[in-house]
Parts: sequence; C-alpha cells; structure tokens
Amino acid sequence: MHKHHSALGLAVAPFDSAAGIAIASQPVQPVTLVRPHAAARAARYFVEKFPGRSMYAVKANPSPDLLRILWDSGITHYDVASIGEVRLVAHTLPQATLCFMHPVKAEEAIAEAYHEHGVRVFSLDSMEELAKIMRATGNAADLTLCVRLRVSSEHSKLSLASKFGVAPGEARELLFAARQAADALGICFHVGSQAMTPEAYANAMERVRQAIVEAAVTVDVVDVGGGFPSRYPGMEPPPLERYFETIHRAFESLPVSYSAELWAEPGRALCAEYSSLIVRVERRRGSELYINDGAYGALFDAAHIGWRFPVALLREPESDARDMPFSFYGPTCDDLDHMAGPFLLPADVQAGDYIEIGMLGAYGAAMRTGFNGFGVAETVAVGDEPMTSLYADTVAPARSVPASVVKL
Ligand SMILES: *Cc1c(COP(=O)(O)O)cnc(C)c1O
Repeated sequence: MHKHHSALGLAVAPFDSAAGIAIASQPVQPVTLVRPHAAARAARYFVEKFPGRSMYAVKANPSPDLLRILWDSGITHYDVASIGEVRLVAHTLPQATLCFMHPVKAEEAIAEAYHEHGVRVFSLDSMEELAKIMRATGNAADLTLCVRLRVSSEHSKLSLASKFGVAPGEARELLFAARQAADALGICFHVGSQAMTPEAYANAMERVRQAIVEAAVTVDVVDVGGGFPSRYPGMEPPPLERYFETIHRAFESLPVSYSAELWAEPGRALCAEYSSLIVRVERRRGSELYINDGAYGALFDAAHIGWRFPVALLREPESDARDMPFSFYGPTCDDLDHMAGPFLLPADVQAGDYIEIGMLGAYGAAMRTGFNGFGVAETVAVGDEPMTSLYADTVAPARSVPASVVKL
C-alpha cells in the first residue's frame, strides 16, 4: 500500500476513509483501520460524564497507540490483569496509575508490580490471595485492597459471574481482614461484558450495600467494574448517561465513608469504536463468503460466541442490490473458522469485493493469532466516522488527533 509521511514522520493514509483505502489500494491482506478521534471521544465522554474515576481495562485492547490516545484524553488510571500488562503500561505511560485487578495473581507478579512499578491497588476474593499480597509486598501499609464481590451477569451478553468473586453473604470475614491490612478498602464487581441495562449496576450495588452492612466495615472505594456496552447489530443499549445516573444514585445512597471514591473500569466502551477491519472476499458459495480474516484473527468473538458486527460493502459505484444475510468463513483450514452472523450485505457481493467489519477495537485486534500463516498487512489511521457510535453526537469532535498516535 502506498503511504506518504507527514512532517512528524507519521504514516498517513492517502485516502482518509475505509472505502478510499479499499478502492485505491486493493489490499491483498486484511487491513486494520484505527480511528484515534473515536477513542479520544469515548475517553473524553467518560472523563467528563462518569461521576467518578474511569480507568481503562487494558485487556480489551492493549495497543500502545491506543493507550497514548486515552492518556492524552484524560484517562490516568489503568486496570491491568497480568504482569505483562503491568510492564506494558508502565513502559508506555510511565506516569499512569496502575491497578492490578485480577483476583488470582502470581506472588512474583504482585511483588514486581509493587516493588518495581509502584502498584498500590490490588483486588482479591479470598483469604489466600490476601496472604499472598501481604507476603509479596512485605506487609505494606500503603495498599488499597479491593474485595471482588460476585454479582449476577443476567443482563450481560458475556458472563463474568462464575469464575471470580466472593458471594455477598460470605464476604464478611474477607472484608474484615482486608480492612485490617489495607490503608484503603474497596469493593469491586463486574456485571459481565456488554450489560444491556443500567439495572445490572443497580442490582450489583444492592449486593454491595448488603456486604457492607453485614461486615460493618468502612469502605473507601466502590469500583463498579466494566460492562459498559457498545453498539452492535441487534444490540442497541440505552444511552450511557442512563448508566451513569443509575450508578451515581446507587453510590450516593451506600453506607460508605464520606470521602469514598467511585471508580469504573470500562474496557469495551472505551475502545470498540477505535478499530475496524477491511477484508477481501476470496470466494462466494451461495450465501457463504470466504473472507481473509476470521476466528484466529480479529473475529474470535464472531466465530466463538456468535457476536454480530456491522459490515459494509466497499465498492465504487455503490451496489444498489438489496441486502441479504451472509455467513463468513475465515481463511484457515479449520471448520471452526466460521462466523454465522447473519451479516447483511448487498445480494450481488462477489469474490474480489472488499468489506469493512466495524466495532473491532475491543476484543478484536487483541485476540489475533498467527495461526496457519494468516495475518494483517498493516494498520492505517483514518479520519472517517466508525460504522456506528454511542458518542458521535454527545461530545464535540477533537480538533486534531493527539500528536502521540499512529506509528505504522
Ligand atoms: C474484562 C474486565 C473489565 C472490562 O470489561 P468490559 O466489559 O470490556 O468493560 C473490567 N474489569 C475487569 C476486572 C475485567 O475482567
């Protein structure tokens, strides 16, 4: 693909849109498109409107470019879950505050995070983990310990309810012990990813209240976790502001210390709109399209949990055929490399056509493997709008892309 370079040495797409790139350069391999303005807009929305502190859950997309965009847009705290993520964020954003929010950690990881990277916030859901944290930090007196409560995932598309968390009725002993050991005591939870209604948070906050009352401890931090939704075909969530209002109201009525802080850990909602993918149709068999990315690429969720992503045919002139439902096969030799969709595309789509698959910034690029020798040719920054957005009309557009982004 032809690129020119700006005075800053940044590679700039010659055509500033998905269609422009597909039509002008006819890429043989998939191309990842990134939209720095969309990530910056989502970050500013959370920074301005969430009634507490928003920290980014790095696992949703650990791209250093994205981390710098979020930092430039006001996200100062990062939820990390492994020592690899701790090192990555510490290296990329040396001034960021890291919170180690995986409730089951290696003792060596805790020690390195505390002693070498200045991490002071840890989550836990067992007495064993508390003992580990105290050993690894040499009984540090400056810890914020967040006890992870188990809450329902019933309103979410992806459950996080069975693996981690202490049941609210059984949290008393752990909350009490963590209170003794901690400088600040927090309670955290995760309602599951892509929570389709604010009720999910209201219900979870009720469990928090129960746990606080039963343990009779002073709580300094309430962390409502991730789960904030994005927009996908067939999944149209209410406006995020409704979630924020519900959470704010619930927080205000909790029996916590007067100076208690409210935190959230959005992953998906901060980065889903950041990235999309241009793929090429290599073959058509009826309503099945063989495309050049799939389950082992950025489309893990489309294949394995039937997630639907928005799609658009990139053709000039535009097709005027009516839409019909298609399924996709990815490029590897594996039957599992299949995405049922349905994906709605013009009925005359054919081999050689290019398709944009949208909303892949969260849990898309992050899941890519090199299986079977397939991969992505390159990443290009574009300035057009994401295929769909929760934020487009809510925050003024960025005047310019943050200077730190886009090294190709
Ligand atoms: C995955 C995860 C998040 C982010 O969840 P989203 O649904 O992407 O917002 C936040 N906190 C924890 C502890 C997680 O495991």
